[in-house]
Amino acid sequence: MKRLVINGGAGRMGQAMAQAFSQIADFAVVALVDVHEPANLFGAAYYSSLDALEPDTVDVVIDFSNPNGVVSSATWCASHAKGLVIGTTGLSADQRSAVTGAASSTGVVMASNFSLGAVLADRFAAMAAPYFDRVEIIELHHDKKVDAPSGTSQSTAQAITASLQKAGKAVLPDPTEKFSIEGARGADAGSGIKIHSVRLPGLVAHQEILFGGPGEGLTIRHDSYDRQSFVQGVAIAARFVSSVPGLVEGIDSLLD
Ligand code: NAD
Repeated sequence: MKRLVINGGAGRMGQAMAQAFSQIADFAVVALVDVHEPANLFGAAYYSSLDALEPDTVDVVIDFSNPNGVVSSATWCASHAKGLVIGTTGLSADQRSAVTGAASSTGVVMASNFSLGAVLADRFAAMAAPYFDRVEIIELHHDKKVDAPSGTSQSTAQAITASLQKAGKAVLPDPTEKFSIEGARGADAGSGIKIHSVRLPGLVAHQEILFGGPGEGLTIRHDSYDRQSFVQGVAIAARFVSSVPGLVEGIDSLLD
């Protein structure tokens, strides 16, 4: 039985994780930590700070808070040798350094998308990339998301870039020279891959990876309709993570 604390436990993801994990036999949710009091506790205790926790009652911290909350989770887990699973996105370089620093003293799994379908979509995109001239990513999320582009789309772009580099290929240069409206071609993910971000009410998390080659196109689309889509992946990470130091980025390597 792994005893979990959810940092950001009052948020949309925190509440979804608390509800789901309170019903999975090999987990117990012992505490929800958040700067705001959660609407539902699902049998757990509420604390406004990780520092109020009794370390002996905790095995793993799951973080779906915000980038400052991640730094608190990383600091607390490193000082008490507790496993840490991070789902929060939008970290600055300094905040990322706090995570990599913590991983030299304890185990950390950090993933921009815990849904298994999204992980598989990245695998399929990496397989397809060397066979197409161009690729663009459209990521679509709910209208409360504060960071853009999504962490998932950036990870997808990295997976495609790595695959292209391995194959000794690159996407063709963008021919656009004249912009009637700046930004119309989206953001460059750094390797010529464009990312377009859409924010609308009613959406959860969706992504299309569009490949184009001579006379054909291939679209790989993934949809998270509900936050339950992230539970299986978080559970895989929480079962894996321990106080053994090291950082695992993405859950691809944890899937059988
Ligand atoms: P949300 O705004 O609903 O919830 C965030 C919660 O964190 C809020 O309750 C807020 O009060 C709390 N919080 C803010 N600062 C804090 C701090 N310093 N310490 C503790 N708690 C703090 O957001 P959400 O939709 O639940 O998303 C949370 C994060 O998870 C975002 O970064 C989002 O991009 C990410 N996310 C990741 C995945 C994934 O698969 N990796 C999936 C969905 C969302």
